Amino acid sequence: MSVLIASKIVKTYQEAGKSRLILDNVGFSMNIGEMHCIVGPSGSGKTTFLNCLVGLDDIDSGRVSFLGKNIHALSGKEVDKFRALNVGFVYQSHHLLMDLSVLENVMLASVVAGQTVVESKKLALDLLDRFNLSHVQNSITHLLSGGERQRVAVARALINCPKLVVMDEPTGNLDAKNAKIIIDCLYDYIELENSCCVVATHDLSIIKKSAIRHELKGGKLLINGA
Ligand code: ADP
Ligand code: MG
Repeated sequence: MSVLIASKIVKTYQEAGKSRLILDNVGFSMNIGEMHCIVGPSGSGKTTFLNCLVGLDDIDSGRVSFLGKNIHALSGKEVDKFRALNVGFVYQSHHLLMDLSVLENVMLASVVAGQTVVESKKLALDLLDRFNLSHVQNSITHLLSGGERQRVAVARALINCPKLVVMDEPTGNLDAKNAKIIIDCLYDYIELENSCCVVATHDLSIIKKSAIRHELKGGKLLINGA
């Protein structure tokens, strides 16, 4: 079943009075259970593409249908709410609240989404266990290593059971062991929760054979680089 279908996406940026084409008639679709990877050099438009898929950035033309909704036709408020309910984000700079504990960071996203504190704590403890973070659950986040922080950020992204997980260069600062933990947990997650995941990365080692690989090149999205 399709979670997201993007068709004929065109995106330009205005730069010093000139228009620059970043996405040139791009089509893309994701089904439940799929892991997609977007590769391409820095500046090729990976972040722009992800932002356009989830309505964080406007498009010039085309359409994104996400869980049956034409998301670029929604108002700003509607799309924010839709994203909060359905998308889990992981960024390279993970935006954790450094003065809070690990457990609080993961719980917060659930409490904000309307869950009770008791239920949020239960969900957070389960996720921390899955990401091998139980031993640091009460540590203040700024005391954690880069790899541990990134795992916390992924746990936080999953706590509201999003249908789509979007990761923008998530493993940029990670050693191979932490990268593997994250990717393995994500594969388990999308299978368990009937979700799907799109990862922008330049780190080919995190891409498993089962992932569907796309390359952004000259504004075109090429499947399997072809
Ligand atoms: P990537 O994530 O692959 O490194 P980006 O999507 O961040 O690429 O950027 C693609 C190109 O678009 C870059 O050349 C970048 O400078 C440009 N760009 C990104 N955001 C903006 C913006 N808001 N205004 C103008 N140009 C932008
Ligand atoms: Mg980027």
